[in-house]
Amino acid sequence: MRIDPHTHTTRSDGRSTPAELMREAGQAGIDMIGLTDHDTVAGWDVAARGVGASGVALIRGMEISAMYHGITLHMLGYLFDPDNSAIQRHVREVRDSRVNRARDMVDRLSRDFPITWADVQRHIEPGATVGRPHIADALVEAGVVPDRGAAFTDLLRASSPYYVWHQAAEASEAIEWINGAGGRAVFAHPAAPHRNRIVPPEAFEEFAEAGLFGIEIDHRDNLESAKPELAAMADRLGLARFGSSDYHGLGKPNRLGENTTSQAVIEALTQSCQLEVLYP
Ligand code: AMP
Ligand code: FE
Ligand code: FE
Ligand code: ZN
Repeated sequence: MRIDPHTHTTRSDGRSTPAELMREAGQAGIDMIGLTDHDTVAGWDVAARGVGASGVALIRGMEISAMYHGITLHMLGYLFDPDNSAIQRHVREVRDSRVNRARDMVDRLSRDFPITWADVQRHIEPGATVGRPHIADALVEAGVVPDRGAAFTDLLRASSPYYVWHQAAEASEAIEWINGAGGRAVFAHPAAPHRNRIVPPEAFEEFAEAGLFGIEIDHRDNLESAKPELAAMADRLGLARFGSSDYHGLGKPNRLGENTTSQAVIEALTQSCQLEVLYP
């Protein structure tokens, strides 16, 4: 059973539509996929309609932007009630803040490079969550950088003068909202220093206290040297060990199924969640 529980589509910064994701997962020999677009559940319904034809089971999820003492991080929320009001309020706030932040970043970039907000908007599907990858797409189109990755190594990285923060919830609160909405939370790529500063060990204890279910260990952005410590931490705090591709279609080199999560972990996850996995 190959289970890849963390992927993105055009509903955020992935390049495949939710329907394409399901087909691609079937072709890649994935048995169960998690759809976890950034701060939106907008892909759930279309992906659900692809379960039958693709033969791939679907875990409905969302990757939530959050903070720990000024450090940005990502919390995966799984199988929660999408109509829950606390979740909906969070999603609205962070998505609005993402738009303002992207516009501010484009203002700054436009002083030095030939890009406008309209150029960026052409790369965002209507209603999708806006992120730096869409700005990267406009920079590629303008010939400023060769690809998304190159945009992130310099212009869009967190220490760049063009970078602007966006608002996000405290991670412990995000965990509590997810649990309160009948879902479970998994800390995404917690040891990825080229993305953000790494949170200190006590953060894991606070998150476990708040009701965290698991941590993502097998992820290409986690430092190889940190994985044994993460595994030990998971065992000590009673957290499940996850692995995933974080697939973004052609938006990133990550390939479906390059890392996976065990069936036992997914069974434990689904047993404590309100929504069910959708099976073919
Ligand atoms: P944002 O959420 O707007 O701050 O942008 C972060 C997103 O950019 C992450 O979700 C990644 O998918 C994407 N990203 C980060 N680093 C890279 C990279 N080197 N190449 C392509 N996409 C990246
Ligand atoms: Fe992303
Ligand atoms: Fe992430
Ligand atoms: Zn992701």
